[in-house]
Amino acid sequence: MTGLRDVIIIGSGPAGLTAAIYTSRARLDPLVIEGEPSSTSDQPGGQLMLTTEIENFPGFVNGIMGPELMQTFREQAARFGTEYVTAKVSRVDLSSRPFGVWVGDPDAAEPTYQARSLIVATGARSLMLDLPDEARLLGHGVSTCATCDGFFFRDQHVAVIGGGDSALEEALFLTRFAKSVTVVHRRDTLRASKVMQHRARNHPTITFRWNSVVEQVLGDSTVTGVELRDVVTGAKSILEISGLFVAIGHEPNTALFKGQLELEDTGYLRTFEGTQTSVNGVFACGDVQDHEYRQAITAAGSGCMAAIDAERWLEEQEDD
Ligand code: NAP
Repeated sequence: MTGLRDVIIIGSGPAGLTAAIYTSRARLDPLVIEGEPSSTSDQPGGQLMLTTEIENFPGFVNGIMGPELMQTFREQAARFGTEYVTAKVSRVDLSSRPFGVWVGDPDAAEPTYQARSLIVATGARSLMLDLPDEARLLGHGVSTCATCDGFFFRDQHVAVIGGGDSALEEALFLTRFAKSVTVVHRRDTLRASKVMQHRARNHPTITFRWNSVVEQVLGDSTVTGVELRDVVTGAKSILEISGLFVAIGHEPNTALFKGQLELEDTGYLRTFEGTQTSVNGVFACGDVQDHEYRQAITAAGSGCMAAIDAERWLEEQEDD
């Protein structure tokens, strides 16, 4: 048992680390449980560790690489006394206060840490096609964020996979830069809202490949194309592109909190009046509670909100 903390922050993307900067400056000695190195978004630093250059984070005139940006966040929080544990949380108990937080064996009788307040910043992951070369070429032509990476595909041919609002939103955004945008959808009917369908279908730069799935992502060091299979005829074809945007949905990382925190119908954590969750003293920020904006800067902003909410809540507890 490492003792009782005022604030434990789970997650170390822009939301979690901004919460750490604010709570450490408020002298709450936060502990950040930052995740473990992996090739997925639940590693320390979160989804930005999987991107290359970031040009839309304010303050960096010439852009900054995603991992470098997260390193600066981390150092900034450390400067004010934030402590880090490189581990994954295996279980939480939010049924009574102080809250219990386990790393390692989830069946251990005693929690590894206890916290007066908890900030959940576990983020979300983009659903992927799970093809062998997709992960290898992530950040080298494969992207899950047109807002982040679209600019790099000026005058190039790109494809977007998916038939929902996200896919069409990505496709429409990409028309600002790309020479052509091909939306590849596994059916011949779109899931997206009528208004988005109307916009995409009427855009001169966007074409559709219906009833098609990606069999292979092609390219050695960067994407050069995809092999498609027509699911009706079985015919295979190559689509030459330099950018592949996978937009088949996102999944918030909420498994730890199932049955303990209320979720929205969309599966994201429900927050009330700022960042308060359904359990008093537990706050949520970033992509785990935001399915709308999903930007590093909005996640950082909500991390700041969660820190201020937690600080005020702790003060109220002392007053009582
Ligand atoms: P979504 O609505 O679940 O759509 C996912 C799309 O990806 C579907 O068309 C699905 O095909 C396809 N797909 C899923 N798995 C696939 C796979 N393995 N291979 C190929 N295709 C696959 O997800 P979303 O578009 O991210 O939207 C999520 C929610 O956010 C929705 O409620 C949406 O309305 C909302 N949203 C709104 C806006 C906006 O209003 N501006 C923007 C973005 C998102 P099927 O259709 O065949 O299932």
